[in-house]
Amino acid sequence: ERREKINAWTGPAVTRDGHHVQLLANVQDAAAAQRASESNAEGVGLFRTELCFLGTKEEPSVESQAMSYRGVFEAFNGKKVVVRTLDSGSDKPVPFATLADEPNPSLGVRGIRTQRINNGLLGNQLDAIKMSLDGLDSEAWVMCPMISTLPEAREVAKAIRNRGLKAGIMVEVPSTALLIDQFLDEIDFVSIGTNDLTQYVMAADRLSANLAEFTTPWQPAVLNLMARVAEAGERKGKPVGVCGEAAADPLLACVLVGMGMTSLSMAAGAISAVGAALSEVTLEQCKAAARAVINAFDDEQAQKTARAILGTIS
Ligand code: PEP
Ligand code: MG
Repeated sequence: ERREKINAWTGPAVTRDGHHVQLLANVQDAAAAQRASESNAEGVGLFRTELCFLGTKEEPSVESQAMSYRGVFEAFNGKKVVVRTLDSGSDKPVPFATLADEPNPSLGVRGIRTQRINNGLLGNQLDAIKMSLDGLDSEAWVMCPMISTLPEAREVAKAIRNRGLKAGIMVEVPSTALLIDQFLDEIDFVSIGTNDLTQYVMAADRLSANLAEFTTPWQPAVLNLMARVAEAGERKGKPVGVCGEAAADPLLACVLVGMGMTSLSMAAGAISAVGAALSEVTLEQCKAAARAVINAFDDEQAQKTARAILGTIS
């Protein structure tokens, strides 16, 4: 019966009492974007651009980058597409942009920090994004991964806005979540990467099968930080999205909406299940669940509490 409800669901996503939430797709290339455009996604919330860099020994030219990006914008022409600049290093090593001998790659030169050893990488990528939009009217938002200081945010915002694009950052490092009010003053939007935020808050490798109990976004400390980010966004009137795996869990998605997230981005295949779950609950219920989970004793209690308030949606 749940399956039928999910299959019958069509967007846009609204709670039972009519509160709208943007459900967006995570994609990594034009083919995935094409498939996602046939789902109920309202746009792309995370375009992981790494794929364009993975097979090459050198930085691809601006023109060749632009060609790879264009297919994604074409698939969602006229819609919102959030492009993430290169997130190399750690779990996504890119040959020419990653240091080979780091003892702790997840704490090393990864994400935006790659800029330090590859001056010009960001500028070239932004030029390519701008170029790829030529003649299209997609709403391009650009965000940078692994931002951890205010000067970094200020610098990338300037570079992105110089190309006339909307500037954002990912919230993946606890330092950024802790100073979120000041970060929001520097940029136009944020998107929480729950995979990395959880890894860094809990000091637990996201790739370790032995640490699943620490790497779940249901950990109360992670939920607390996410709630804090959402609240700051509401206060400052700036969009706060979630684009990590957490957004694809229908129960957690309702909790995130209760915290005040304005968009959720996930694998296209998860969108209908999340949309169907949201259609069954009220915003008040979501808010009550959001208030309750941040006081939970552990991840299991957080989940149980949410289920008790939201019902059997997942
Ligand atoms: C995340 O960290 O949650 C995220 C969305 O980015 P990635 O999984 O690509 O690191
Ligand atoms: Mg990440």
